[in-house]
Amino acid sequence: MNKIQMVDLKGQYQKIKPEVDAAIQSVIDNTAFINGQPVKDFAENLAKYLGAKNVIPCGNGTDALQIAMMALKLKPGDEVIVPAFTYVATAEVIGLLGLTPVMVDVNPKTFTVERSNIEKAITANTKAIVPVHLFGQSSDMEPVLQLAKDYSLFVIEDNAQAIGAEYTFSDGHKAKTGTMGDIGCTSFFPSKNLGCYGDGGALCTNDDALAERIRMIANHGQKKKYYHSVIGCNSRLDTIQAAILNVKLPHLDEYGKARNEAAAYYTRNLKDVKGIDVPYEAEYSTHVYHQYTLKVQDGKRDALKKYLEDNNIPAMIYYPLPLQEQEAFQHITRTAESLEISKNLAESVLSLPMHTELDKETQDYIISKVSSFFGK
Ligand SMILES: *Cc1c(COP(=O)(O)O)cnc(C)c1O
Repeated sequence: MNKIQMVDLKGQYQKIKPEVDAAIQSVIDNTAFINGQPVKDFAENLAKYLGAKNVIPCGNGTDALQIAMMALKLKPGDEVIVPAFTYVATAEVIGLLGLTPVMVDVNPKTFTVERSNIEKAITANTKAIVPVHLFGQSSDMEPVLQLAKDYSLFVIEDNAQAIGAEYTFSDGHKAKTGTMGDIGCTSFFPSKNLGCYGDGGALCTNDDALAERIRMIANHGQKKKYYHSVIGCNSRLDTIQAAILNVKLPHLDEYGKARNEAAAYYTRNLKDVKGIDVPYEAEYSTHVYHQYTLKVQDGKRDALKKYLEDNNIPAMIYYPLPLQEQEAFQHITRTAESLEISKNLAESVLSLPMHTELDKETQDYIISKVSSFFGK
């Protein structure tokens, strides 16, 4: 058995090496390193895949979130509601722009925001909600979208972990995550479900005027070269990264399938182990398993992590500290409630190796070690 990894980018690359190498070489041959044709092609390809009107590529997922808030003209003093249990980027850009992050608790089974928690946190200053589709599953968007409509709030989806997942509305119609709010933001960080070989990100919107504003802000606030109408930033997807993503995008659904099969195998063999909860699959969303995350009961999480590591199995804690306890946010945040669930999750979650190249032999070994830790 090979060394077990959290993600296996090399194994995935080897299967598409000729196409990826040719795509990279072609960019170098054309020296169109910035805003070359593959960037435009990728924006179109991704829009088509998502079923969205506009995709605007940018430098990374954090930039995407920042540009989204700039494009919606959020101003200092405005409050933006975010889940307390998420990656820091979601709240960081809110702080960076002088806005106030307001943290709300999440559903303990799905790890995503709930209408009831959000509603309690709304004030006259609330301007936007950022649902995060954490670990690869959509937030329950229909109630969130309804709430946003009721209170005239913007919805910015943080889709960095769930690209390819699909949400089903109560009337049966389906939408890809990242296409339901005013703006969807995603990341192509290498270990994300659609990862490039460096940094990359994109915004998605069905509003053409907003798309134009996003394009302008990501490009120094200019519509016409050297004429700047607003303060913007410089955030671009490299042509080489776009060329790689054009090769990988057609494989995204097959990658999602491989992750689902691996997740189903873990779940089938771990669901009866006393002392852990396997991931919960909500009926309203498909799951693309960016992470396969257990909840470990009775304060045994850190001991299990150490036991797995002693047996050469990497396991990661996403995330060890909820946002409300992060030093950086102490002075700017407003929390509407105790955020007990986020705190408990930070103390109990543990993610097992999950990627597109996991084989049964490796999984059997991981499953046997998790089971033996709990005396089975
Ligand atoms: C990865 C990630 C981001 C940021 O993406 P980068 O491309 O690394 O800037 C934002 N939000 C979430 C939930 C993420 O997982």
